[in-house]
Amino acid sequence: MPVPVPVQKVLVVGGGITGSVLSLALAQRGADVELVEISPQWFGVGHGITLQGNALKALRSVGVLDRVMRRAVPFDLMRLRNADGSLLTELPTPRTGGPDLPATAGALRSDLQDALCDAVYAHDVTVRLGLSVERLDQSSDRHVDVVFTDGTTGRYDLVVGADGLNSHVRDLLGITVKPRPVGMSIFRVVAERPAEMDCAEVYYGGPRYKAGYSPISPDRCYAYLLDENLDASLVGARAPLSLMRERGAGYGGAWGRVIASLPDDTAVDYRWIESILVDEDWHRGRALLIGDAVHACPPLIAQGAAMCMEDAVLLAEMLRTDDGPLEKVLDRFMARRLPRVRMVLDNSLQLADWEIHPGTPGADPARIMGQTLDSLTAAA
Ligand SMILES: Cc1cc2nc3c(=O)[nH]c(=O)nc-3n(C[C@H](O)[C@H](O)[C@H](O)COP(=O)(O)OP(=O)(O)OC[C@H]3O[C@@H](n4cnc5c(N)ncnc54)[C@H](O)[C@@H]3O)c2cc1C
Repeated sequence: MPVPVPVQKVLVVGGGITGSVLSLALAQRGADVELVEISPQWFGVGHGITLQGNALKALRSVGVLDRVMRRAVPFDLMRLRNADGSLLTELPTPRTGGPDLPATAGALRSDLQDALCDAVYAHDVTVRLGLSVERLDQSSDRHVDVVFTDGTTGRYDLVVGADGLNSHVRDLLGITVKPRPVGMSIFRVVAERPAEMDCAEVYYGGPRYKAGYSPISPDRCYAYLLDENLDASLVGARAPLSLMRERGAGYGGAWGRVIASLPDDTAVDYRWIESILVDEDWHRGRALLIGDAVHACPPLIAQGAAMCMEDAVLLAEMLRTDDGPLEKVLDRFMARRLPRVRMVLDNSLQLADWEIHPGTPGADPARIMGQTLDSLTAAA
């Protein structure tokens, strides 16, 4: 029997990882959830994602972990290599989700999103695609009146903006903080997984910031190259594989073989990496922002989505168990989340800065990475 929540009717804006996990967690606690997603088709794009233990724990709490792990690839270590592919060292990865979960799993984003979408539909969340929010009216402090882009309207106890880095809900709430380029970009491809690839591997000391790959399914891997910011007109699926090959020349080993084996028309995702931290209030009245809309970090510790999922799970939990006026609950929610997401963001930015400025005195990426993951083993 679902436990009633103090806020019963919730609008979630954005059906990415954050909005999907939140919709599920709320529906499982008995809330009446509506999710609007601006994209007319709701499925995950096909690049890989590294799910650390704390992300796996969040997925377990909303009941989709078993489905995700049917295709994801678990591992407990990371291998560091020199640019020519020779082994530098192997590092065990802390189990941030607890001893009963792997430290890490590589997954296809589309597998993850498919699992989330199916679970969201199975929990009777009302999903409306190709739609966004036009206006929020909070003239009453008891609810939020929403006008959608198709002219329809709705009244909700709570609106949650989970609409990502360039959040429209953030604009509607009058929060003017914007994402900033970190100073590095990334090429990403999905490729056939070589049989011997059993964990994430990163190549240091080459011509670019770094190259790497991770197994993401029984037969697929994802490979990337972190580079300086190149021409912005390449952003999206517009960078040709030939450019990735040219920029990645000098990386050997399995990375070189994987990239060389790709068909010339392989889709390459290229983007500048941006970060954001909103450290003013994440809510205005009964409208709240979570996930990348308020905190996004460069993917150097692979914790972005994990932080988003933790937001979603904790918010749903606090709406059920915390008491007092809703705005106070939202204040306490942010107070719980901010130190943790700030630590991950600051450390990820530090790692990015050391990549961009090699030879910085005192630079010690392995220490920062280890410390970050160790401290995340404490509950969110
Ligand atoms: C290159 C790269 C690699 C990464 N690798 C990892 C990794 O390995 N591990 C990890 O944990 N994290 C990783 N991250 C971070 C992770 O991808 C993000 O933190 C996470 O996907 C953010 O999820 P989100 O749902 O908050 O936002 P988004 O994924 O941006 O989803 C927002 C959703 O809202 C929708 N939307 C947008 N605007 C509107 C609107 N106006 N109305 C309605 N809907 C709207 C969008 O269509 C989208 O579906 C990486 C990030 C990058 C950039």
